[in-house]
Amino acid sequence: MPNFIVLGTDTDAGKTTFSLIWMSAFTAEYAYFKPFETGESDSNTIQRLVPGATVLPTVMRFTEPVAPPLAARREQRSIPKSSTLTLPTTQLPILLETFGGPFSPLNEEELQLELIRHLSLPTILVTSSAVGAIGRTLSCYRAMTTQGIVPKAIVLLGDFDAYVEEQLGKYTPCPIFSLPRPTQWSTDEYQLLAINSTETLQRIEQCLLQEPPPNNLIARDRATIWHPYTSLHDPLEPLPVISAHDEYLHLADGRTLIDAISSWWTILHGHRPAQLVAALHEAVETLDHVIFGGATHPHAVTVAECLLETLPWPKGGRIFFSDNGSTAVEVALKMAYQWWVHHGEPQRTLFVGFENGYHGDTFGAMAVGRDRLFFGNYEPLLFNALQIPVDVAALKNAFQKHPQQIAGVIIEPLVQGAGGMQMHSPKTLAEIATVCQRHGAKLIIDEVMTAGRTGTWWAFEQAQISPDLICSSKTLAGGMLPLAVTLASPGIVNAFMTDDRTKMLFHGHSFTANPLACAVAAKNLQMMKSGDWLLNVHRITQFWRNQHDQFASIPGVREVRQQGTIFAIELNSAGGYLAQVGPKLKQYAIDHGVLLRPLGNVLYAMPPLCTSQTSLQTIRDVMLGAIRHLNPM
Ligand code: PMP
Repeated sequence: MPNFIVLGTDTDAGKTTFSLIWMSAFTAEYAYFKPFETGESDSNTIQRLVPGATVLPTVMRFTEPVAPPLAARREQRSIPKSSTLTLPTTQLPILLETFGGPFSPLNEEELQLELIRHLSLPTILVTSSAVGAIGRTLSCYRAMTTQGIVPKAIVLLGDFDAYVEEQLGKYTPCPIFSLPRPTQWSTDEYQLLAINSTETLQRIEQCLLQEPPPNNLIARDRATIWHPYTSLHDPLEPLPVISAHDEYLHLADGRTLIDAISSWWTILHGHRPAQLVAALHEAVETLDHVIFGGATHPHAVTVAECLLETLPWPKGGRIFFSDNGSTAVEVALKMAYQWWVHHGEPQRTLFVGFENGYHGDTFGAMAVGRDRLFFGNYEPLLFNALQIPVDVAALKNAFQKHPQQIAGVIIEPLVQGAGGMQMHSPKTLAEIATVCQRHGAKLIIDEVMTAGRTGTWWAFEQAQISPDLICSSKTLAGGMLPLAVTLASPGIVNAFMTDDRTKMLFHGHSFTANPLACAVAAKNLQMMKSGDWLLNVHRITQFWRNQHDQFASIPGVREVRQQGTIFAIELNSAGGYLAQVGPKLKQYAIDHGVLLRPLGNVLYAMPPLCTSQTSLQTIRDVMLGAIRHLNPM
């Protein structure tokens, strides 16, 4: 049976009455726990009226019957942050009773909501069936769901009212139950109520149970789905993920994994952060989607304004929306080449990419990424592009060899991700930018992976350069929804400022600037502006910095690399992306509760910014264990 939380629409909703009925019915099967109490103690009431009940000690009790943080203030005490609360250890499943309502203050910084979110348990919303029940319940239910907390059941306490049940059933997808209130607070009365309500209570308990694993999910997946970057004969089964929060992924079979790679580098703060969930809920109430050719909406404009503020450009830059990293790159390549066409140099058809560079899987992105393993099959279809080492001399050489032919240069700033977390210094990047500028080639900075990860919002900021074009996607909407942008500098934009319609950019996608994704991105950018995220970047950066020596000393480790929150270990074993050791490391990590996806012989972590110190330690231990265990000398 599951642990669960009893919530009330407000202070006198009937949480304790419900708990008394529940504990009377399941005395030997559940333990009662009320972490914070003010005024008369509900724990004592349960103990008194339900003989034999297991009542767990409170975390804090205050004598004055006021909001806990106010009571604490008056007693010169303080209530700790919700993230520090853990459930007491007991053999029994726990009924956790909250105080007040979900939006009551918990401490000086948080509402009780944060505690509910932190505990991540199924909830039951209790309310009185008295006059006003429909409005009261719906207000609370809707407010909670905008915060990502969806009760498993609503329980109406008091006189049965069929109309209330009918209306709540109409406006919520939640199962609704009714229970009578006792006429007097006595053990006998509660015993009687419990016996008479057994069937209802059992049905409520059923609602609390985790959804059963979807039937034959893996087999059905295997029969129908073609997964990205995965062999159709992959021996590793896909992970059946049913929910996620913070740094955790929950699987249908009950396992929980730490998402140490931020789900393909997308999840920025964590899974389902409250502010982004709220922004999405709010947005969906007004506008789902609209054509972006010839229409606009406030969320897109807000995102564009916020992004332009982050750049070193004078006024006049523009944001072009799309919906994934590869298309952001396609757009940048088209803009860069067309710039030359508009300036009478259509022969500039050559782009320069760097060895180990990766920019996506569409044709232009493949041409400039040019990974032989990934894209060798399509080689005859790819346009001409150079691949040079990340080295200023090599770039100078390319310009010398191909005068008047190079349209642009594309680079992942500071970290080349898919190519094995290869890193270069801000100084190298700055020198590359200088060479591009000298030759007039358009510099495209592909920040699809790096934005938000390296210690500055844009990685290129550390080189103090001013790119012509920037691509961003994964973390743009916090990783919650697909969204991408190509940021074009005023110099690029000016070349398209003409009423000659043959010279516009012929590019657009159905879901360009999807309003829901933009609303989430706008909230994300607002969060970034506050700067709090940087504290986590610094915390994670420092954590990894302290780990270099112990990784470097393991036999078989070729190199330890780090850039901000990205931490990578290159092993001696040969074989590149398809190195035999990759899947073994991955399976070892999964077996030990961490999701890693090595790039061949490069094992790396790039956790969401909310990842706790404990989870960081787990990731580290699992990486150490994986390397030691598999010992690829
Ligand atoms: N550029 C870089 C640097 C990337 O890391 C990626 C994806 N890993 C892309 C572009 C392509 O992005 P998407 O997968 O969203 O098309």
